[in-house]
Amino acid sequence: MPETLSPPPSPALVSDLVRDTARRFAAAGVPDAQVDAELLVAHVLETSRGGVQAAAVRGDRMPDTAATALAPLVDRRCQREPLQHLTGVAPFRSLELAVGPGVFVPRPETEMVAQLAIDALRAVASDSPIAVDLGTGSGAIALAMATEVPHARVFAAENSVDAFIWTKHNVARVGADNLTLAFADLAVAFPELDGTVSVVASNPPYVPDDAIPRDPEVRLYDPPAALYGGPDGLDAVRRLSEVGLRLAHPGGTIVIEHGEWQGAAIREILTADGWRSAATHQDLTLRDRATVAVRP
Ligand code: GLN
Repeated sequence: MPETLSPPPSPALVSDLVRDTARRFAAAGVPDAQVDAELLVAHVLETSRGGVQAAAVRGDRMPDTAATALAPLVDRRCQREPLQHLTGVAPFRSLELAVGPGVFVPRPETEMVAQLAIDALRAVASDSPIAVDLGTGSGAIALAMATEVPHARVFAAENSVDAFIWTKHNVARVGADNLTLAFADLAVAFPELDGTVSVVASNPPYVPDDAIPRDPEVRLYDPPAALYGGPDGLDAVRRLSEVGLRLAHPGGTIVIEHGEWQGAAIREILTADGWRSAATHQDLTLRDRATVAVRP
């Protein structure tokens, strides 16, 4: 009798893999389990999230190589490694920034902080206004300003060796030739620009030292230097206020991201230092997220 071979198991449906992955993520406590499942499958299929949704609707099957690549990534996401560390990129406004261990993953709420800086920069009546991003990390705010306000000259400073590798990488990747990068602490950055800067922007560390973030993605993977800002979280903000007064010209604007309960304290710090018109803005979840003030 001829030996009968059972046919090889046919590759899994994309729709099944997405569903199973989303279930595993939900069981592991991953926020937005369905979105992350679609994005991770998109990553191994080298397509977009919409591409995955279309493949699921069409009844496409997952190529074996992609399924093999997916399995360990799903395990790591279940261990709460950030999705952006697994895909190697984070979206920020129109940009895609490279991220990984050693650099803070840019957040959606910072896109709105960048908007405040961009609006202030566009409003300057100068052919080449100057903006500074202090503690730039991945380069998110600086690169957004440099690419979206191309007539501006943007200067960005970062003082972490590990983060600076990513900053340099992203500046090269995006290719903004109106951006100057410096390895420097925000307290002493860019003395040559004193009194000439139109917009001073920063997403500083602002988490109070004892307010350990709940999400493992933040607690275990974002660099502590990008998160913790002293007992009340405002150590870097106090420095920014002083440095901003040194850098900004009269009429220049400072834009500082902060935690949802810190608006009043930051308006007080800025006003006591001599800044005018301090105003706090909310993010898309209606939480206070950034304070803006003007140098007299
Ligand atoms: N918003 C950040 C978080 O998710 C805090 C970032 C910061 O301190 N700049 O924890």
